Amino acid sequence: MSQTKAINFARNRVYPSKIVCVGRNYVDHIRELNNEIPVEPVIFIKPNSSIGNELISFLGEQIHYEAELSFIIINEKICGVGFGLDLTKRKLQDYLKGKGLPWERAKAFDGSALFSNFVPITKDLSELSLVLTIDDKQAQLGGYDLMINKPALLIDNIQEFCTLTDNDILMTGTPAGVGKIEQGQVFSAQVFNGKQCIIEKSWTAI
Ligand code: ZN
Repeated sequence: MSQTKAINFARNRVYPSKIVCVGRNYVDHIRELNNEIPVEPVIFIKPNSSIGNELISFLGEQIHYEAELSFIIINEKICGVGFGLDLTKRKLQDYLKGKGLPWERAKAFDGSALFSNFVPITKDLSELSLVLTIDDKQAQLGGYDLMINKPALLIDNIQEFCTLTDNDILMTGTPAGVGKIEQGQVFSAQVFNGKQCIIEKSWTAI
């Protein structure tokens, strides 16, 4: 039976209708994939059905990870932060990009969005950062200060064409250090507000 997928926010189960994702929001990641710096934010959407629990290493092709600061939106405002993994079929995405086709097959498949619990956040997001560690080695490090487009601007930009309904999630793009997921790897995610670790979550790749 198929059911609407939930995430955890401040001990409640909530049901995002969609996840709005931003591509190319960190200069160092744009360089590692040889993309151009966009004139305006690159936006794509994962549906509710893309929310998963398991870190999949292979689904038709090897899956790549992208660690992203993620925000939950209520009343069109950010009210919580979480750690997100935007799982990607990179080979397929490169093919689709090359043909000028939409990315859904590479980005919006079932289980392509993994999240920690979300915690409430006050207005000041400027000290937020994330760290992704894979098998005890730091793989990705990023945060508010390195984002080209900051979350508040992204929300305004998205809402020019697409309403964010309550509990929708914004994924704010990935810093450098993306790569393939190997079966058995342990991914440890942390979100910091200043020096304080406010979120911890780990997954073992299957
Ligand atoms: Zn991403």
